[in-house]
Amino acid sequence: MDYKILIDGKLTKPVRGGTMDVVNPADGSVVATVPRCTAEDVDLAAAAANRAKHAWKNTYVGDRAKYLFKLAELISRDAGELIRLETAQYGGPVSKTSNFDIPAAIGEFELMAGLGRSLTGLTITADPSARVMTLREPYGVVGLITPWNFPLVTAVSKLAPALITGNCCILKPPSCAPLTVLKLGEYCVEAGLPAGVVNILTGPGGEVGEAIVRHPGVNKINFTGDSRVGKRIMELASTYVKPVASELGGKNAMLILDDAELDAVVETAVYSAFFNSGQNCGSPSRFFVHEGIYAKFIERFVAAASKITVGDPMDPATMMGPLAYSACRDTAERYIASAREAGFKCLLGGERPSSPALKNGAYVMPTIFEATDARHELMQDEIFAPVVGVMKVKTADEGVELINDCRYGLCASIWTRDFRLGLKLIDKIQTGTCWINQHLKIVPETPWGGCKESGWTKENSMLVLDEYTFHKHIWLNLDEKPHTFWENMIKL
Ligand code: NDP
Repeated sequence: MDYKILIDGKLTKPVRGGTMDVVNPADGSVVATVPRCTAEDVDLAAAAANRAKHAWKNTYVGDRAKYLFKLAELISRDAGELIRLETAQYGGPVSKTSNFDIPAAIGEFELMAGLGRSLTGLTITADPSARVMTLREPYGVVGLITPWNFPLVTAVSKLAPALITGNCCILKPPSCAPLTVLKLGEYCVEAGLPAGVVNILTGPGGEVGEAIVRHPGVNKINFTGDSRVGKRIMELASTYVKPVASELGGKNAMLILDDAELDAVVETAVYSAFFNSGQNCGSPSRFFVHEGIYAKFIERFVAAASKITVGDPMDPATMMGPLAYSACRDTAERYIASAREAGFKCLLGGERPSSPALKNGAYVMPTIFEATDARHELMQDEIFAPVVGVMKVKTADEGVELINDCRYGLCASIWTRDFRLGLKLIDKIQTGTCWINQHLKIVPETPWGGCKESGWTKENSMLVLDEYTFHKHIWLNLDEKPHTFWENMIKL
């Protein structure tokens, strides 16, 4: 298949004509070769987006919504192909890509097509001799830079609110998993989106991503990815005082109290920690468990996790596939070695699968350590792999302190039958999302985003529309005679 970038409404090749390989992490084979853009392509995309932005902003929102519905329809039509591509490029098992990635992308377009139509500004009644209001204005051209762990959904969860609010976009998908986003470029053409409204460029983040961030014709950046890259983007954007919306890493915790419903805790702990090989921004990787339930939890958690079927992600029976690429496995193995060195007991995994059929893939078995130091890197760093630590706590407050003693603040969950206590604990927890008796429940209708080094942006829900618009303040003097400057001062 010949993959093309999208600039100015045309599926095309980069100016310099470079390419890069997309590798299947399950066996190391090359899935596809895609264009490798440079800063020159960013210049062309930014020029096209700026040519398109006035007409797009002034298009009736109901007509913009029709394009979003059409894109949802095209994804739905090609769901089978998209599921296979998604799985082949980053190893997410088909059980995940078919049940989550593709339906979520469709849902995101449909939700934003509806929500965006009812966006409102403010009216301010402070001065009776005036009508004061705010208009919700799009930024103009937004740069959207996305990661590989949910390649299509993350792109759509930025593209849909950006488009419905009247922005034109330059979208850069991850280099290791760009295929479904390049398909989205084809759908933009098929849906008849006006030229320049959506531009999609593939290429290395350090080159193409940075060129988008630096470009004077790009008014805002919306980024999801690693906190280190987020910091680099903010640093670059600060030179131009360019706003950056950031969804960054996490080191998420489950706090399990001694009255927790154990069956539900164990099932959620296993699936949310090891689903997608632990490569979910919201996956829990720190488990703080009350001493009254600790032994039982450990026994059942390890037993349930040991039943996870690890294997070919294309097999519908597979629960856990490989990591996204071999360097991710190397990182996981480094943390496993470090935890062993610190004397943490490995209760499960800690190795590659023994099956010869999986030897060329980037696999790591589900791994559980009993941790004795909450400040150890296993318990502090985002490993982004199926590697977790469990630690005993004496009280709920001790658990909350440990949750907060971390530079990340994406999400946490509390497991208890005592809702009153749960709500009081939530007040003290420093994360963007906090569940009671639930973890990794993320739907398009509810806001998602963190605090601290997890970033501060909200994705999904009505709140995401704030990321793509600003309030323009309008003041209409109702008096027949225009006010002079000094009249205004006296009134105040
Ligand atoms: P990265 O930060 O490595 O990459 C994300 C995107 O940024 C890619 O498109 C990448 O391009 C690009 N990029 C890399 N360097 C730069 C740069 N200097 N300037 C501009 N763009 C750059 O993240 P991963 O793809 O590895 O994704 C995993 C991370 O994403 C984890 O930390 C995870 O927690 C986070 N994440 C957070 C979510 C949240 O909601 N908080 C949701 C999903 C993921 P290239 O691929 O070419 O390097």
